[in-house]
Amino acid sequence: MTTAFKKFLLEILLYFLLTLAFLAALYFTFRTGRIAPEMLLLYGCLVIIAYMALSIYVAVSAALLATLVVIAAAIVEISLLHAVTMLALYWGIIYFLNCHTDAAVEEYGRNKLLLENAGGRLTEFEEGIKRGKALISELEKGINRYEGMEKFSMKLGTTFSLKDISMYITNFTRSAFPSAQVRLIKDAQDACDRWVYSQQKPLCVESTATDYRFNSFASRPGASIIACPVFNGEAVQFIIKVTAEEKKLSLPDLRVLTLIGSLSSIAVENMTLFEKTQELSITDDLTGLYTHTHFMERLRGEVERASMYAEKFVFVMLDIDNFKKFNDSFGHPAGDEVLAGVSRRILKSIRKTDIVGRYGGEEISVILPRTDFKRGLDIARNIRKAVKNERFNFGGKSAGVTATLGLACFPACSTEETLVKAADDALYEGKEKGRDRVVPAASSK
Ligand code: GH3
Ligand code: MG
Ligand code: MG
Repeated sequence: MTTAFKKFLLEILLYFLLTLAFLAALYFTFRTGRIAPEMLLLYGCLVIIAYMALSIYVAVSAALLATLVVIAAAIVEISLLHAVTMLALYWGIIYFLNCHTDAAVEEYGRNKLLLENAGGRLTEFEEGIKRGKALISELEKGINRYEGMEKFSMKLGTTFSLKDISMYITNFTRSAFPSAQVRLIKDAQDACDRWVYSQQKPLCVESTATDYRFNSFASRPGASIIACPVFNGEAVQFIIKVTAEEKKLSLPDLRVLTLIGSLSSIAVENMTLFEKTQELSITDDLTGLYTHTHFMERLRGEVERASMYAEKFVFVMLDIDNFKKFNDSFGHPAGDEVLAGVSRRILKSIRKTDIVGRYGGEEISVILPRTDFKRGLDIARNIRKAVKNERFNFGGKSAGVTATLGLACFPACSTEETLVKAADDALYEGKEKGRDRVVPAASSK
């Protein structure tokens, strides 16, 4: 049974009792010609009970009935003073109760208002907490991204290979957008790529279904795309393109991608600068010999000079024998040591005016200026012997290498290209014949 229903039943009961008391009072009054004072007191009590159990309105009803009884009694028996006293008693009770009710209602209203305000504040507070929680997870995501960004930029700063840079960019972008597809685009494949290449700006398409800037998307299902260019100087080296489901990518994501793009551009530019610096440096780190680029410049210079002064010179190409095997047996660091040692040995066995370069890998080239074939052949043979006699020690084991040399002469070969080709062919012939020997080019003999 609900409380409201219980209250309703109580109200009916009380009305019933009041009516009964009223009828009984009237009956006795008119029957006996007098009114019992207990009856009048009973009415006073009923008024209070009605108020306490129900409401001021029921109490007023009780007071009204009591008034009627008193009036009836006044007509029949009691004195006017007596009647007025009784009426004053009833309505005094009502007045008192009413004042109390007003104060209670006022306080109830005040409390209700306070409660409502508190409730409002509580809702605001709860919403604030919800917003805060969402913000915290966003912040955590942001912090993780930026921490990753720090590691990513450190990695980029330590590599000068485009392959590694591309790999780091792809991996990091994938970790920043785990549910998306990441690609590095070298050649524009669609309108979106072409736009980024031509505008050289980042692009955000939240939905390809509703973005009609790019006609070619019309036939595709909805997707969202963010893309940004990676620069090498003024030119776009490639673009980073991230594709996800429709509306999954938006401007805040593009801001993250743009940051990745900026770091990547710095890495690509560093790589280019590093390559340029390497090109500019003329000596090779491991062997201390001239680099290939510088050596070829010197060869070109020697061709020009010898042509101008009608001089002869000899060009020698040396390749260490079975060096792969050597690396396999003693390890790559040991191979490096041998390469450096052989280079030092060669430098010792030639003249100050001769020019030595690391042609590539374990191939070494020598220019012997103002030298004829016979003298050149002697020098080349000395080099071969010197290399063979050089001993190394790895873990208590004595080790050494041999080398095969090909030899070509100027002016029999009159350009850098023909000199290199002739010496290389001779070297190949030497390898074929069993290695550890000097072979002059056919044209030079
Ligand atoms: P071949 O007698 O026919 O020349 O045999 P090879 O094993 O020397 O063959 P090839 O010249 O084709 O191979 C060159 C090897 O030299 C491959 C590579 O392992 C090694 N090499 C090239 N550059 C370096 C280097 O800077 N350090 C070391 N340790 N090894 C190198
Ligand atoms: Mg080789
Ligand atoms: Mg070799």
